[in-house]
Amino acid sequence: MRYLITGGAGFIGSHLSDELLQRGHQVHVLDDLTTGSIDNLRHLRDNEGFAYTIDSAENAPVVAELVDGADAVFHLAAAVGVRLIVESPVRTIETNIRTTEVVLAQAGKKKRPVFLASTSEVYGKGTDLPYREDGDLTLGSTLKGRWSYACSKALDEFLAIAHWKERQLPTVIGRLFNTVGPRQTGRYGMVIPNFVAQALAGRPITVYGDGSQQRCFCHVSDVVRGMADLMERDDVYGEVFNIGSEDEVTILELASRVKEATASPSEIKFVPYDEAYEEGFEDMQRRIPDTTRIRERIGWGPSMSLDEILADVIEEHRAGH
Ligand code: UDP
Repeated sequence: MRYLITGGAGFIGSHLSDELLQRGHQVHVLDDLTTGSIDNLRHLRDNEGFAYTIDSAENAPVVAELVDGADAVFHLAAAVGVRLIVESPVRTIETNIRTTEVVLAQAGKKKRPVFLASTSEVYGKGTDLPYREDGDLTLGSTLKGRWSYACSKALDEFLAIAHWKERQLPTVIGRLFNTVGPRQTGRYGMVIPNFVAQALAGRPITVYGDGSQQRCFCHVSDVVRGMADLMERDDVYGEVFNIGSEDEVTILELASRVKEATASPSEIKFVPYDEAYEEGFEDMQRRIPDTTRIRERIGWGPSMSLDEILADVIEEHRAGH
């Protein structure tokens, strides 16, 4: 198969490129490098099945041409990270909506199946846990910038499902939960690369709020395996799948585990949310996926534990990548 990956120079997109190439497919990456990096793809330069174009997924003629040369599309191009979203809400909203409109419209002309990478953020602050794909979304006020991300991705989901229902464009949606692993940068505020970099440098490990909030972390290699598996099926169109780990950890516990695993002298420092993000910032206390659907439909489940994930990220940071 020939796959187009929008946002393929990002953390997850670059691992997806690796996975698809390993499966014997061809990959063409489209990325404007706003948050992606060519460094993430450097190791693929000499791979015959690999090519890339540096441009925006909002550029319809470019997307049209690339879709024409592909059998299917993974649409990952999107604004990334809560920090960026709070700081640049206009860009976040516009990027998320425009790129998805363009990709679905162009894929629609050629009837190329599309995988839409969505996010657990769409569940918002719902407390009906674990989150099920058919459960309600609980978003906060439009006065709180964070929720613009969830809302824009939810609209992307509506649009993908509408293309399937109304125009028979094959689409499938993956809601990715906290995904971590090598090549993830701490630049956009993600907690594990941040903690590991802080611990290795002997700087304070910054726990936002009181650290009692919980997350489930899944290794990126498990996540991209699930994405590739879903796209090899033709009986999942119009559906939404959670992709993530169900293994919860508090952020304070995470900080201690990183400190221990790196044998770091760093202190653990509590930073109020208002200082870390913006005044009135709302975080979700817990976020757990119900992965029954993806397990039952395609037999997917994560294979790596949090300790293995941390060891992998620490090794990468120590190697100075
Ligand atoms: N967090 C933290 N310290 C950091 C970065 C993040 O305590 O240096 C917290 C953040 O407030 C959230 C959790 O870690 O509760 C996960 O944050 P991340 O940005 O990785 O993903 P999110 O779950 O917010 O999408």
